[in-house]
Amino acid sequence: MPLLVMKFGGTSVADLDRIAQAARKVQREVERGYDVIVIVSAMSGKTNELVGWVEGTSRFYDAREYDAVVASGENITAGLMALRLQELGVPARSWQGWQVPINTTDQHGAARFVSIPRDHIDAKFGEGMRVAVVAGFQGIGPDGRITTLGRGGSDTTAVAFAAAFDAERCDIYTDVNGVYTTDPRIARKARKLERIAFEEMLELASLGAKVLQTRSVELAMRYNVRLRVLSSFEDTDETSGTLVCDEEDIMESKVVSGVAYSRDEAKVTLVTVEDRPGISAAIFEPLADAGVNVDMIVQNISERDYENHPGAVTDMTFSCPVNQVDRARKAVEDARARGLIAYDELVVDDDVAKVSVVGIGMRSHTGVAARMFKALADENINIKVIATSEIKISVLIDRRYMELAVQALHDAFELEKA
Ligand code: ASP
Ligand code: MG
Repeated sequence: MPLLVMKFGGTSVADLDRIAQAARKVQREVERGYDVIVIVSAMSGKTNELVGWVEGTSRFYDAREYDAVVASGENITAGLMALRLQELGVPARSWQGWQVPINTTDQHGAARFVSIPRDHIDAKFGEGMRVAVVAGFQGIGPDGRITTLGRGGSDTTAVAFAAAFDAERCDIYTDVNGVYTTDPRIARKARKLERIAFEEMLELASLGAKVLQTRSVELAMRYNVRLRVLSSFEDTDETSGTLVCDEEDIMESKVVSGVAYSRDEAKVTLVTVEDRPGISAAIFEPLADAGVNVDMIVQNISERDYENHPGAVTDMTFSCPVNQVDRARKAVEDARARGLIAYDELVVDDDVAKVSVVGIGMRSHTGVAARMFKALADENINIKVIATSEIKISVLIDRRYMELAVQALHDAFELEKA
C-alpha cells in the first residue's frame, strides 16, 4: 500500500481536542488507501516546561538525563494519538524512539540519525495495522541511552521516516497554512507559495522563517523527499499548503521567491588590523572556538594611518546574532591579549537587521542586486554590509528600517503576483 508520513507539531496536538482533530485527518488518509506513519511533537509548551524542570534541578546537568526527561513529552502524545485513532476504529500502535529503534549518534541534546530499521513497523503493517505513531525528536544512542535531536527535531524525524520508508510524501501539519513569500505580519501582500525548491526553503529556513527545522530540509533535499507544509486547523486536500520539492518540479519560477529577515543581528568591526596572510584565520579561529555563529564577513581597505601603520592594514567586519556579541568581544579581546592579533579599535553596532532576497532564478538572471539596492535607495535605507551567494543577496541595515525594507523588496520584485 502507498505510504504517507504525517507530522503534527506542538500546536496541532496541544490538547485532547486538537489530537482528535489531527487523528481525523489521519483517518481520512487511511480511508483513501494509505498506510500512515504519524510523527508527533510534544503538546505545545511541554518541551519548554520539561527543559525548565531540568534546569531547575541541576545547573550543569548531565545531558543523558536531560534527554531522558525532555524526550518524554513526545511519548505522551504518541500514546494518546494511537488511542484516539483506535477510538476512531483505525488500527494504530505507538512507538517510542528506542522501540523502533531510531539509532542515533551519542551527541545528547543534538543527536543525528544513524539508521532507522524498518522491520518492526513493517511487520505490524503486515499484520493489518494501518497507522504507526512514532514519537518525534528522539532516538537511542550507541550507549543504549535515550537521545534527542535538538529543538524542532520532530520535523527531521518525519523526513527521516519518509526517506527510510519510501513515503509518497511527508506532510508537515502546523499552525500556518504554508510557506509565504515573506512574513505576512510584516508585508500584508505576502502570498502563499504553491511550491518552493529545497534550496530556497533551506535559505529561508536558515534566514529565520521558522516553519521547518533547517536540518529537515537538508535531509529532504538529500533524499529527495517531497515535503508539504500545511495547516492542521483548516480543511485540507491534495492541493493545500506549500510543496517543498526539487527545482525540476517547479514550472513557475520567479527570479526571486521570497524575502527573509533576521531581526537581531550585530555588526562587529576590528579597525586597522595588519593585512598579512593568516590574519583572517587568527581572528575567526578564536571566534569559532567560542561558538560564535559568524554570518557575513567583509574585509575592507582601512583608511591608511601611515604614521602608526606603515605596513598594509585592513578593517575586518563580521556579523553575528546580537546575543553572541559579548562572547565575540571576549574571544577577540582575548586573542589580542595573547598577541595573536592586533587592531586599533573594536566597534560594535548591535542595532542592525539582515534582509535577504532568495530565489533559484538568480542563477540565470542578472540585475537582481541592482534592483534590490535601488528599492532600498528609494526608501533612503543605507546598506551597511552586503553578502551574496548563488541564490541569495543579503544586506545589513539599521534595525528600525527592517519592516520597511521587507515591504519595499516585496513590492520591487512583485512577489504578490503568482
Ligand atoms: N518538542 C520538541 C521541541 O519543542 C521537538 C519538536 O516539536 O519538533 O523542540
Ligand atoms: Mg516546529
